Formats: sequence, structure tokens, C-alpha cells
Amino acid sequence: MRRCAKCGKKAQVFLPQHRLSLCGEHYIEWFENRVERTIREFRMFSRWDKILVAVSGGKDSLSLWQALIKLGYDADGFHINLGIGNYSEMSNQIALKFACKVGRTLHELHLAKEVMPVPDFRDYDKRPACSLCGTLKRYYMNKVAKELGYSVVATGHNLDDESAVLFSNALSWNIEYLERQYPVLPEENGFVKKVKPLCKVSEKESALYAVLSGIEYVEDECPMAQGATTIDYKLYLSQLEEKMPGIKLRFYSEFLRKLYPILKTQEQKAKLQKCKVCGEPSISDICSVCKLKIKISSRKYIHDQHGE
Ligand code: AMP
Ligand code: ZN
Ligand code: ZN
Repeated sequence: MRRCAKCGKKAQVFLPQHRLSLCGEHYIEWFENRVERTIREFRMFSRWDKILVAVSGGKDSLSLWQALIKLGYDADGFHINLGIGNYSEMSNQIALKFACKVGRTLHELHLAKEVMPVPDFRDYDKRPACSLCGTLKRYYMNKVAKELGYSVVATGHNLDDESAVLFSNALSWNIEYLERQYPVLPEENGFVKKVKPLCKVSEKESALYAVLSGIEYVEDECPMAQGATTIDYKLYLSQLEEKMPGIKLRFYSEFLRKLYPILKTQEQKAKLQKCKVCGEPSISDICSVCKLKIKISSRKYIHDQHGE
């Protein structure tokens, strides 16, 4: 029988890459310490900052929110209801229930009211729905955080997410993306500071934290994300991890330590301007979200004129 390395009680968790067995209580403590160390290592924020946690209703963002609150940070939540049928309704309800339980504010934004529900994108834009959905999420996280006076946006991206993106960018040596792959993006040019405090914990570890902390979360993947290539990269890396425990963490951490500093010195920042319509940062005079909104309203106008 494995025993907890801290208290000697029966272990509930074994972490192969750290060669560590822990009981439930000490696992929770280990996870929170790891998040705290990541926050300090990358100077993400302090206890004076007002943090907005982007909460999807899944295990990662709810575990992150819970850990930040327990660590004494001033963290509220922000949920974007994507309008994807039952999946979005459930996610929204679970995020609200959690906010009630921990007694913190959850700000909500309904994409169907602001732009349109995600499943309708295909009629307006040829890009895959996931890519447009990502653009809209980033746009509203940034805009809402600034409007509500938050200094930092924290997302629940974990080690599996980050190493899969790193793997995909490295396979095609996409330098432009690699030089921006850092768990902290500074506040600049109309962007609020963005951080990923779970970048050094795996998906399994964050699921374990959620379960052992009694957090109710949405287990389903987004139904629109099926077939996304990152799912394949995650699978390959997890197979490697099985054989070589710790490889994922090493791949990501050593990139940050050895390669990122070199890439950073030659980073060429895109020239940004303010969107003429909404004032948010944009590479062209009108940002992609405003362009989409214009397209939607002009089609509605044609539709109304012709009574189709
Ligand atoms: P994903 O891209 O779905 O893997 O999500 C990555 C992170 O983005 C999550 O951990 C959340 O922090 C954030 N996020 C995803 N979906 C939403 C949403 N609907 N509302 C707010 N934040 C979200
Ligand atoms: Zn213990
Ligand atoms: Zn705009």
C-alpha cells in the first residue's frame, strides 16, 4: 500500500513524474503550492491585483478559481455563454452555482446577445467555428476586464494544452507563435495582462484537484471542438508521458527556460492600431469582431428588405 509522503496515511494519489504519493488533503495542498510557485516564478500577479478568472465551467478554470481564492487572491469570475445548446446552458449553470458556493461575483456575457451563438458562425465566416470562437473569447475577456477595472485575466490553460500547442508550433517551426508562447502576456497596447497559472499542472492533476475538492464541473468537451488537431497532439504526448513520466513538463519548462529567451530578443511586434468602431486593439482599422458584426447586420438588413 502506498502511503502519503507527508503524513503516512493511505495515499489516494500517485504522481509518477514527481515520484510522489499523497493523501487527498496533502494533494490539495501540493496543487495549491504548485499554482502559487508558478504565479511567483512568472510574476503573474500579487495579492493587490484584481483578477478576472475566465471560467468555462470545466475542471481547469474552476480548479484555478478555487485555488486562487484559497491562496488569498482577489479573484472574480467571467463566463461567456457561447450559445451551444445544452452544453452552454449546463456550463453557465455550473459556473453560477460555483460562484454562489464560494461567494464571489461571476460576470456573464451572452454571445447570442452580443454577436450570435457559435453554431451560427458557419453562415457568416469561412473560418472554422473554433478559431472564430477563440477570437471572440479573447476579445471579450480583454474588453470586459478593462471595463470592469480588473488588472489581470487568468485562464485555466494547463500543461497538456500548452505542451500540445508547443508541439504543434514546433513541428512547423512557427517562430511567430513560438515567440509569444509564454504564460504571461504583459499589459500593453490596449491589452490587459493575461496569465496561465495552471501551465505547470497536467489535465489529470487539475481533474484530481477538482474531484478531491468536491468541485462540480462540466465533463463534456465542447461539441463543436470534435476533430480538432490539438486533440491528436495531446494524445501523442500522453502516450509518451506514459512511457517517460515527466516528459511533457520537461518539454514545456525547458522551452521556456532555454529557447523562449532567445526568441524573445528578436520578436517583432505586430503594429497595432485602435479599431475605428470599438476602440479595441486591432491589426487593421476595423477589428475582426466589428467586421463580423457589420456583416451580420448588413445581412439582416437585406433579409428584412426582401422579407425572406
Ligand atoms: P479551451 O480553449 O476551451 O481549452 O479553454 C481554455 C481556457 O479559456 C479555459 O480554461 C478558460 O479559462 C477559458 N474559457 C474557455 N471557454 C470559456 C468560456 N465560455 N467563458 C469564459 N472562459 C472560457
Ligand atoms: Zn497526507
Ligand atoms: Zn472593433
